[in-house]
Amino acid sequence: MKAASKSELYRKLPSVDELIRTPELAALIAREGRRPVTEAARDVLEHLRTEIAAGSLHSLDTAIAGLPIAVEQQMREATRYSLHPVINATGVILHTNLGRAPLGQSALDLIREAASGYSNLEFDLADGKRGERDVHVDRLFRKLLNLPANASGSAPEISTIVVNNNAAAVWLALNTLAAGGEVIVSRGELVEIGGSFRIPDVMAQSNGILREVGTTNRTRISDYEKAITDKTRLLLRVHRSNFEITGFTEQPALEELVALARVRNLPLVEDLGSGALLDLHTLGIAGESGVAESLRAGVHVVTYSGDKLLGGPQAGMLTGRTDLIDRMRANSLFRALRVDKLTYSALEATLLAYVKQDHDAVPILRMMRLSKDDIAHRAHTIAKNLQAASHLTVAEIDGESVIGGGAAPSAVLPTCLLAVSAKHRTADELLATLRTADPPIIARVADGRVLLDLRTVLPEQDAAVEAALRSAANAGS
Ligand SMILES: *Cc1c(COP(=O)(O)O)cnc(C)c1O
Repeated sequence: MKAASKSELYRKLPSVDELIRTPELAALIAREGRRPVTEAARDVLEHLRTEIAAGSLHSLDTAIAGLPIAVEQQMREATRYSLHPVINATGVILHTNLGRAPLGQSALDLIREAASGYSNLEFDLADGKRGERDVHVDRLFRKLLNLPANASGSAPEISTIVVNNNAAAVWLALNTLAAGGEVIVSRGELVEIGGSFRIPDVMAQSNGILREVGTTNRTRISDYEKAITDKTRLLLRVHRSNFEITGFTEQPALEELVALARVRNLPLVEDLGSGALLDLHTLGIAGESGVAESLRAGVHVVTYSGDKLLGGPQAGMLTGRTDLIDRMRANSLFRALRVDKLTYSALEATLLAYVKQDHDAVPILRMMRLSKDDIAHRAHTIAKNLQAASHLTVAEIDGESVIGGGAAPSAVLPTCLLAVSAKHRTADELLATLRTADPPIIARVADGRVLLDLRTVLPEQDAAVEAALRSAANAGS
């Protein structure tokens, strides 16, 4: 058969109108509407014209017969959600790229209830007047932080406000309490988190002036003391989150900083990063002090994330002395940083689970509490079911899950991993195939095998992991 010339090929292409009048596409339009189908038809024809122009298409016979199917596929592609679920088999519980903390059922329920209609977000039902949106969670934070009465017998007045994330919380604290003046920070705490949050940059944006003291590995309380002048507005302590300094190190105890702040009458602000509400020692995780601990020690204001160790929605909390928190609320930019009813719903439901001590209702706490045996049991079931998949080799090996999200950088939880290799495919190919599953599965490769950690896989997703591994094995045959 003689190859058709380019002009012949162009002539053979139907117009968009002709194409969408075919019975298949007329039926598709009846189901999905004219516009998405017409756009998809235009895209498909445009693509064919590009191929003809490039000389890569020599006959249209098969392409024309397949046009309705190509249009339907193109339409599905174009109207698919960009943001969709994935299965996290990395074993990193707070994976920032995978959306950090999954929300529990009660949080999802309250989001649906509060957001599908109107709510009392800023409405005081008792007196029928305008209210404050922070009241919904402030009462729960007070209950959870359960601070002891101070020396004068009355409980210290502590309040919490919520902003978009912890980066915003740090900015608001610095801008409100220190704009135009100096903030003293240890050189060992000038951290960068995730590439875009750097203490010196946030400081500059807040109009605070960074006054660095000490050295990278050693800072003494006397370094802070010597740096205090009449320009000083604030002492700032920053959690190191994603790294540790080991060896010849020194850092003043929190109590020393509290005492210095008190004597010099300066506020002490601590960026906790993760901000645990639960004593993590009970989960075998050391070195991560919680929100209550810092406040009890006398820190005036702490800032922390909603979607790290707290296990709720993306948010940033400022908890501390009510007079200082009220100044932040009065900052004219507070309104620009505030969060919506979806966030309050998720946060309130998450906090209520803590109040009820229903820790398994908070997915990340449940994941942290899973024992190695629980995980090994699930891994074994999958491995056993895959024994017949002759193109796959599945082993159960010891490994470690990590918390991630800048929390307890050195803490690991013992786990059982599925180590998978395929006969005709490299580990990287297998990994890439798992990412095309529905939902996509995110794992990692080590020593030529794909490693999957079920700690971060929701139990109801185990079957999907097994099915994806089985079909990845077949894809290689
Ligand atoms: C994670 C982290 C932040 C940023 O928090 P976001 O909620 O992601 O904005 C700031 N400071 C520290 C110490 C952190 O660990």
